[in-house]
Amino acid sequence: MACVGWPNLLLDGVQIRFSHLTGDRPCCPLDPTHKIHRHGHYFRYGDCDSPQPLECILRFLCLLCGRTISVLHDHLLPYRPIAAPKVQADFDARVSGQSSPAVTEKESGCLKRAWERFTRRTTALAATLGQMVQLVFLEPKPIWFQLRRWGNLSDILRMLGRPFNTSLLHDYLCVRPWSRSSG
Ligand SMILES: [Zn+2]
Repeated sequence: MACVGWPNLLLDGVQIRFSHLTGDRPCCPLDPTHKIHRHGHYFRYGDCDSPQPLECILRFLCLLCGRTISVLHDHLLPYRPIAAPKVQADFDARVSGQSSPAVTEKESGCLKRAWERFTRRTTALAATLGQMVQLVFLEPKPIWFQLRRWGNLSDILRMLGRPFNTSLLHDYLCVRPWSRSSG
């Protein structure tokens, strides 16, 4: 990643969701008095059928910490080229036993991988949810139902991001705020 002019900067930053923003830019997770600068943008995929990455992600930089903060649109999942509403509709159909909405072949593969990843996350997600409710079964179905009480998948991703510092399909380092010892 380009680091022109600031060779000592560590640019492995965090991702927050757009709905976490309370102003025109995020706060430094270490110290809210740190000044945050705009730091360009990048494009990523939000649709696996798109021939090129079209989702523009704004990036910010805390100069004092030397870390970046990317702001992910609420309809995106970290690192997954498929929109949250499609994942939500697919997961809803899987747990209710109804037929999944029509999708393309690429989307079908992407959704299948997302579901497989989710089913391997049940223990971790139950531990996260266990801070709020007692879950009896570590099965995907009751965990998805419980998550859906928070709202749609964008709401779920926002809640998992803050306060729980995790995400739906993986415990990404990038969704955790940095600390003095993590950089
Ligand atoms: Zn900072």
